[in-house]
Amino acid sequence: MEKIRVCVRKRPLGMREVRRGEINIITVEDKETLLVHEKKEAVDLTQYILQHVFYFDEVFDEVCTNQDVYMKTTHPLIQHIFNGGNATCFAYGQTGAGKTYTMIGTHQNPGLYALAAKDIFRQLEVSQPRRHCFVWISFYEIYCGQLYDLLNRRKRLFAREDSKHVVQIVGLRELQVDSVELLLEVILKGSKERSTGATGVNADSSRSHAIIQIQIKDSAKRTFGRISFIDLAGSERAADARDSDRQTKMEGAEINQSLLALKECIRALDQEHTHTPFRQSKLTQVLKDSFIGNAKTCMIANISPSHVATEHTLNTLRYADRVKEL
Ligand code: ADP
Ligand code: MG
Repeated sequence: MEKIRVCVRKRPLGMREVRRGEINIITVEDKETLLVHEKKEAVDLTQYILQHVFYFDEVFDEVCTNQDVYMKTTHPLIQHIFNGGNATCFAYGQTGAGKTYTMIGTHQNPGLYALAAKDIFRQLEVSQPRRHCFVWISFYEIYCGQLYDLLNRRKRLFAREDSKHVVQIVGLRELQVDSVELLLEVILKGSKERSTGATGVNADSSRSHAIIQIQIKDSAKRTFGRISFIDLAGSERAADARDSDRQTKMEGAEINQSLLALKECIRALDQEHTHTPFRQSKLTQVLKDSFIGNAKTCMIANISPSHVATEHTLNTLRYADRVKEL
């Protein structure tokens, strides 16, 4: 399997969107091709449809389930982590496009991390030499360049690079879990702790990156494989860097910076002698291990099907396109 896979997932139109008369402008042509039908107005005010074509490693349409997405994106990474590798899975996209649904999901419809954990538990059970290995999890968020522990009442955390250039998050709570049920419970509780934004009015996770890490450790607590799931901040927030409100502007600038750095860091995985700019954002700094050595990455760009979201959808697809373009 290649080091980088870039996939797109289109969500269905919601009931409210249908009622508002929003229309679907995305066609999944085949499992690698996607079309966007953009409505344009000519100078003489006649309307026409501009068609954009995009190719990705995998395109998921609105009928695909988390399980389908899992099988094509994350499942191939599980063997890699059992071989001692490092794997990372990102959900990118505009707020409301389906990132959290994909990564975290709900109790009835668990996200990719839970499906991965199920696989990991199953493999640990059947593999004799791995019988003394355990699953450990951590869950934290990055909001405005600062780290908060979602498994420890949003305790502020600090990242530090040790003498071997390994980035450590000091004091991060790690829990050992022995079943998927317990894991779900812990993560769903943690996700309720996600950032409410500085204004604190609406619960709003769109301005923070949430990171779930699953590690396999031996009885001496040495890690031999790790997979991370990142529910990224809403990509449209990067444009808030131009906002007039100081706090929003700062949040936007931070998100913009981290999404740009992320793209460069993932791209660097495929290019042997390039510099990887981890230090350009907190996100890429704490995920340093995901961009070096035998790391493998998968990005799922989530998109809304609605004509109302055309501009953001095109931005998301262009970003995802550039993550892989040589
Ligand atoms: P984001 O995290 O990107 O802001 P969400 O994951 O919260 O977006 O999704 C927005 C809404 O759309 C939620 O109500 C969610 O349940 C729904 N949704 C997203 N993706 C899907 C999907 N593939 N199938 C059905 N509903 C979805
Ligand atoms: Mg979300």
